[in-house]
Amino acid sequence: MLPELDCVKAAKENKVIFEKLPLSRFERLAPSLADTEGEVSVEWAFSRNEAKQIQAKLDLHALLHLSCQRCNARIDFNLEASIQMQYVKTEAEAEALPLEIQPLYLNALNQIHPYEILEDDLILALPMFPMHEKKDCSLLQNQAYYATSDLEQKNTYKPFADLNKLADLKEKKSGSSTN
Ligand SMILES: [Zn+2]
Repeated sequence: MLPELDCVKAAKENKVIFEKLPLSRFERLAPSLADTEGEVSVEWAFSRNEAKQIQAKLDLHALLHLSCQRCNARIDFNLEASIQMQYVKTEAEAEALPLEIQPLYLNALNQIHPYEILEDDLILALPMFPMHEKKDCSLLQNQAYYATSDLEQKNTYKPFADLNKLADLKEKKSGSSTN
């Protein structure tokens, strides 16, 4: 896949792009991953609707390695995303689109930058707080071993500084709201 794609031509020809791209090439995505092993499968079909408007459908599939927000160990995340796109000229047109349709902007040469769009959509498809299922999370398993009750667990066990910070924030918020 080239860094630029002539979208008008692609839509006219009903072009379908099939690619497998290494995750390591997406620099903006990398900080959200535990590692950049693996690849993303891309199927990107361009077409025109009855009104001759350019549209596209992007399907993404990847097995990502994320870090569990609870125990910090690796978690495998199966990313599946299917995104409808439609060409727009202005932000007003973009805003008028239904929420599930992503605006597709072209540059003066009728081009898009496929890698940038792909990376945006990969990032958008990530879970905000990746976590193991409870039964698979090593932290919860250890906790279950040591804790005598659920309540005691919640009150006494705060393993991460971040969680403590979050708790502090919450206390401050609730404190200020009572003032
Ligand atoms: Zn976990």
